[in-house]
Amino acid sequence: MDNAIRESIQIIWKQLLKSQPTSRAELAKLCGFSKVTASSCVDWLLDKGLVQELGVTEIRRGRPPMLLSVNGAAGVLVGIEADKISSKIAVTDLAGSLLERHDLPAIDSDPQKFVGQVSHYLMQFRKAYADRRLGVAGVGFAIVGSYNQEEGIIEYVANQMAWNHYPFRLEMEKMNPDIPFLVSQIAKASALGEARFGTCGGSDYMAFLSANWGIGVGLYDGITGKITRSTRFGHATINYNGKKCICGNRGCLEAYASIRALFEQFYPDRTPTFALFQNLVERLRQGDSQVISAVREMVEYLAIGIVNVINAYNPRQVCIGGLLSFLVNEEMLSRIRSLVEEMVPPHFRKNLRISVSGLGDMAAVYGCVAMVRDQLTNFFG
Ligand SMILES: [Zn+2]
Repeated sequence: MDNAIRESIQIIWKQLLKSQPTSRAELAKLCGFSKVTASSCVDWLLDKGLVQELGVTEIRRGRPPMLLSVNGAAGVLVGIEADKISSKIAVTDLAGSLLERHDLPAIDSDPQKFVGQVSHYLMQFRKAYADRRLGVAGVGFAIVGSYNQEEGIIEYVANQMAWNHYPFRLEMEKMNPDIPFLVSQIAKASALGEARFGTCGGSDYMAFLSANWGIGVGLYDGITGKITRSTRFGHATINYNGKKCICGNRGCLEAYASIRALFEQFYPDRTPTFALFQNLVERLRQGDSQVISAVREMVEYLAIGIVNVINAYNPRQVCIGGLLSFLVNEEMLSRIRSLVEEMVPPHFRKNLRISVSGLGDMAAVYGCVAMVRDQLTNFFG
């Protein structure tokens, strides 16, 4: 296909995802295309099964427009988050409705084993959804650390030697030769997931604090609909000469306000698991004073981190997500808000909202689905 046509189809597809249900005329207007161009792009999308016609709107004047939406049933998308204690694989339809979710082993296992496990699930999904026209249409990965997109290599994951320099793309393609996949960082994917499927994104400039075993920040620009940056904010120093961090530095935010910090306090000698984390959430819910005071202290540090995020990026919205969102209840959130009020001058927190993600630990997975769905039109030859 001609590159210019491919690009026009891609623009119409992304606009349709954003403003559906919509019509050909509306898409042409929003994308600045002629009606003929927009219409031929829509015809292509209909032909590939990505889009469906819903019927006509109420008649006002002239010919009523046919409404279009994404064809949810046409295929499935797979989102995978590879993290320390909460690795998971999930399937959604093209509309983003969750169909199934399974736990995966933590990333401290051998990466080859991880790819093997993922490939096993993908084979099962291909069988289970074979009756859908596009089957498994694409897979998105959210990983910790740095991924070299050009070479398809995981370059660096802190304290995970086996993952450093792992030829991820090559190994995935060997086991799954005909399934397209994309890779992103967890903070980046989480911000996208929140923006597309959560309630925090809206049309604003959002900083998504992805607080899991470590902490990252993804910045989402509501005007362009893009993630502008993903940062290793967990390693911002908040305490000179403070606690030692896995990065080698001292006093990093995530040495105080991450799930890792909580585990160091409660389970110093245990192998970290999601079940142990769930136990902490339950103890907090039941009013365990030891857990309450630990989370309260954590929240004080988190507030300092949020103040740094505000001073560095000046977002309109700060969204606290990842596993930490299960621990930040209403009382903790109020405490964060009042600490931010103490530390940030009124001018810089005008119209600023601080909230907790409603997606729980699924923001990254939804972000993977959104990332792949955005690129779906490029997967056709
Ligand atoms: Zn650090």
